[in-house]
Formats: sequence, structure tokens, C-alpha cells
Amino acid sequence: MDYQELISEVYQEVNELDLRGKVADYIPELTKVSRNRFGIALIDLEGKVYGVGDYQVPFSIQSISKVFTLTMVFHKFRSKLWSRVNVEPSGNPFNSIAQLEYEKGVPRNPFVNPGALVITDALTSKFENPTQSIRDYIDELAGQHCVRINEEVMQSELQHAERNTAMAYFLKAYKNFDNDIPEVIRTYVYQCSIEMCCEELAKAFSYLANDGYSIFAKREILNESQSRRVNALMLTCGFYDESGEFAFRVGLPGKSGVGGGVAAIMPGKFSIAVWSPELNEKGNSVKAIKALELLTDKLKFSLF
Ligand code: GLN
Repeated sequence: MDYQELISEVYQEVNELDLRGKVADYIPELTKVSRNRFGIALIDLEGKVYGVGDYQVPFSIQSISKVFTLTMVFHKFRSKLWSRVNVEPSGNPFNSIAQLEYEKGVPRNPFVNPGALVITDALTSKFENPTQSIRDYIDELAGQHCVRINEEVMQSELQHAERNTAMAYFLKAYKNFDNDIPEVIRTYVYQCSIEMCCEELAKAFSYLANDGYSIFAKREILNESQSRRVNALMLTCGFYDESGEFAFRVGLPGKSGVGGGVAAIMPGKFSIAVWSPELNEKGNSVKAIKALELLTDKLKFSLF
């Protein structure tokens, strides 16, 4: 399979479709990015990089960071983690608070915001310097110093953190939150404000395509069974209330962020990251999803 040809073809076809969406505007900083940005990077399991378009331009990874923090915490707590967060698709938007009440303070999954807040709380309990640890961890996964923090995005998110803070208090009311709420919110906002480019993201995700072993960190990040579970969660919950649609159209475990990025993996073959800032009404990148749909259509193999 000629991956370079494949992604170049996909890139061109998606551009010709002239798909439109809306750049995230829940914080003013995110609206500043050019809507026409579009890049794809694919990394095979030998570490070879294939890229097209803006694949080396950093962008706000936002909720894609939830996969990294989940990995850190899952590795430490192992299956004990699942008493604090469920593994069911939510069928609700990422920032929905409603289910928390029916589920008695145990979030539906680690990728909706309440679930990610529980994960960041657990991380705070285990790592002395949570923000530095997140940063070092992602750098190690990518095999290079790549994590940058967008200070403006971070400040802006901190000023608009009411909803996430409310969720954290709700979790605390159900005794599913151990640490100081403002501190955990700061760490959560920090992880969302990380900037990386498609190439770095695809590298950092590569362990999930490789049974938990990172060729960039040169060590096992998760064991095989844990790595499969993170992939199962990405397949069923990675795109919030569009997870079913993504599985149907693309059929890969993946994770999106409101910065317009999507990272996904084909087990045993490759990891891929696509970025285009215009989002659909579910908060997922219109072009990135289309690109991955075309890509898996053209591949001679699939997850299924
Ligand atoms: N920072 C965003 C939030 O917590 C991340 C959301 C996302 O990327 N889906 O609301």
C-alpha cells in the first residue's frame, strides 16, 4: 500500500468537496485559526511518516488529550479505575451534565467531560506535578519535545470554565472527586490547551496501533489487553453522540477535539491524525471525518 499516494488522493478529494462547518467559538481564542487549514499525517509501525497539507502546523488538541490522560491513569489504577467511570457510549454531547444525576456521579465514559474530569482527578492523586507529568508523557510518546501550551487558549478556557467546574462539584457531591476542584480544573484546562501538529499526534498515538508498545518511547506504554480496551473506548465513545456514525462511516478507533483534530488508529498497521478546524453540530471536524471515511473506503483491509 502506498500510503503517501493514498493520503494525497484523499486530501485532494476532500478539498474538491468544499465541505463547510463552523470553527469552535465557545472561547474567542479558537476562532482565530484559519478555517482553511487542512492536514493529514499517517505513521506506519516502522515509524515512517507520510504527510500532506498542514500536517506540521500545530493546533489545539483539546479533547484528544483525554486519551493521553486516560492512558496515564489506566496504567496506574488498572481495572480499579472502572468503579469511578463507566465504559458506555453516552449518546449525549461532550459537555452534558444531565446523565451524571441518573448515574449517581459515575460518568458514562472517560471521554465525555465529566469522565475526563474524574480521570484528571485520579491523575492528580498519583502524580506530584500533574501538568509537567502530562507534558513529559506526551513528549515521550511522540519521541520528541513537541508539547506546546497555548497560553491564550488556556486563559480563555479558565475564564469560561463554569460548566466543567459545575460538573466537578457534582462529582464531588457523589464522592467521586478527591482533589481540590480549582486545581483539577486548571490541569484539565492545561491538557486541553496543548498544541501539537498532525505528525506529532500520529506519532504519540502509535502505541495504540501497536498493542500498547511505543516505537517512539521504545517501551510498553500499556499492555496488550489495556491497549485494546482504550481502542474499544475510542471506537464506542471517541466522538460523543456521533460515535455510532463515525464507527459506521469510518470504522476505526479514534478521538476528536473541538480544535478540529482527529487521531485514529488501524491496529497492527498505522496511526493517523487529520486536522481541519470547521466542525459539525456535534463538535467534530467535518473534513477530518470525511477524509478518514474516504481513506478507509480506499484501503484493502479494515478493522472488521
Ligand atoms: N476544552 C473543551 C471543554 O472542556 C474540550 C472539548 C472538546 O474538545 N470536545 O469543553
